[in-house]
Amino acid sequence: MKKYLVLITAVLMIMGFISIFYVKGVESYKLNKGYINSEANPEVIYKSGPAQKETAGASTKKENTAANETKDNEGNLGAAESSAGDPDSEAKRQIDPNKPMVALTFDDGPHYENTDNILDSLKKYNGAATFFVLGSRAEKNKEVIKRIVEEGNQIGNHTYDHKQLTKLSSTEITEELTRTSDIIQDIANIRPGLIRPTYGSVNDNVRNYSKEPLILWSIDTLDWKTKDKTKIVNEALKNVKDGDIILMHDIYKTTAMAAEVIIKELDSKGYQLVTIDELFKARGKELENGKVYSNAYK
Ligand code: ZN
Repeated sequence: MKKYLVLITAVLMIMGFISIFYVKGVESYKLNKGYINSEANPEVIYKSGPAQKETAGASTKKENTAANETKDNEGNLGAAESSAGDPDSEAKRQIDPNKPMVALTFDDGPHYENTDNILDSLKKYNGAATFFVLGSRAEKNKEVIKRIVEEGNQIGNHTYDHKQLTKLSSTEITEELTRTSDIIQDIANIRPGLIRPTYGSVNDNVRNYSKEPLILWSIDTLDWKTKDKTKIVNEALKNVKDGDIILMHDIYKTTAMAAEVIIKELDSKGYQLVTIDELFKARGKELENGKVYSNAYK
């Protein structure tokens, strides 16, 4: 009888050990496969820890670069500005007030590819333009915004998401414009000093609450409507004269293709491609807040 008891105890102990090892084995298998969340979590934290750090490091690096770039921007902008009045300036772009000039303007962007192509064309002919951007698109294309500023172009405000300002209350007008200016400031450390009212619509409310000069145009290329390179080029060039402000939209591929020809043609005709600020400064006209301008003479 005693023998049986010892045997049964021994068998039970062996079975106990086996079951303990079996459960442990399954747990470690599940752990390896990540089935057990509570056990796998420390690993996840460990893995995401350094990754997050890297990201944080990268963005800090970016911010630093952005800060440096901003310093450069200010330097460049200052140089470009002074070059308008000082022909001896060593700035890359020199504006001669005695020669004809036009301001190309691009609305509704920025666009990661089409705006970039337009910037390439401007750079090639040592020209600059004004980009009236949407806050909502600027948020998604920060690098393009930085490049626009870096290369001596001007940025204007075209509302956050293209609401028609004449349909908004005074508070809403202020909100739309301030929100966009804040976004540009965050990205490029400059505040747009100009507004292009959406749809070219202006009323007393817009004049009183926009608190910046309101820039319309004297040549409408109708690029958004035709989406035809030849037609866009013809509309831009057929009646062009000194002081004109040309309207285009940098969100369309056909506009970017047409802009390449327009820039080349205007350059060969002796026109300087300038920003809105450069245009009015060269023509001795001071831009006033809340006033509407269609060209350098109106
Ligand atoms: Zn627009």
